[in-house]
Amino acid sequence: MTIDVLTLFPDMIDSALSFSIPGRAQKADLVDIRAHQLRTWAIDRRGTVDDTPYGGGPGMILRVDVAHAALGALDHSHKAHRVMLSPDGELFDQSMAEEFATKKKLVILCGRYEGFDARIEKYVDQKVSIGSFVLSGGELAALTIIDAVTRLTPGVLGNAESLLEETFEADLTEYPQYTRPEKYRGMNVPDVLLSGHHAEIQKWRDSQRQNLERT
Ligand code: SAM
Repeated sequence: MTIDVLTLFPDMIDSALSFSIPGRAQKADLVDIRAHQLRTWAIDRRGTVDDTPYGGGPGMILRVDVAHAALGALDHSHKAHRVMLSPDGELFDQSMAEEFATKKKLVILCGRYEGFDARIEKYVDQKVSIGSFVLSGGELAALTIIDAVTRLTPGVLGNAESLLEETFEADLTEYPQYTRPEKYRGMNVPDVLLSGHHAEIQKWRDSQRQNLERT
């Protein structure tokens, strides 16, 4: 899978994704994540990518011609799934992550300042938000999405079984997990987990998973 990120701060993407699971996934060539500087497609040599809003108002707006040129360069024949990040987009969740993980190529467009000229929506497939709050830019949203999608990519997690019992699978939470010490300040690990009885452990774990609609 290839993920192209269009951003004014490519270092934010590169540095955050060099660690842990996304870092290993890239080293193993299971995902190819590339952060591109939006100013590469600026309208002038000074690197201009934004302008003041028509009708007046505060802040700067990212230009449609710049973003469109960048999308065209990265995804010439529009084969990728193009995602634009915006606080008023469709709410990102685990089922959207699963859907994205099936795509061969994703292009993620990160806004800054007051966001994009509204006309860019004609050139993207989906407008996505990671929550009901306003971030300063799309990079942290892109990183959230990439992290969630990467761990679902086949071969990325060492033990694929761990995905099957994770929270949100089958609309259930994961069961509670424990490690050493066995006793901590009056709190004990449930006896069944120390029993070595695999069928009983599985039964207990199944009983602990909660329906997400009820939690
Ligand atoms: N003026 C815009 C508004 O009121 O909707 C907010 C722009 S925000 C300061 C700059 C950029 O951050 C947005 O274009 C978007 O790419 C990103 N962003 C901010 N909040 C986000 C969220 N909750 N989910 C996804 N992206 C977000």
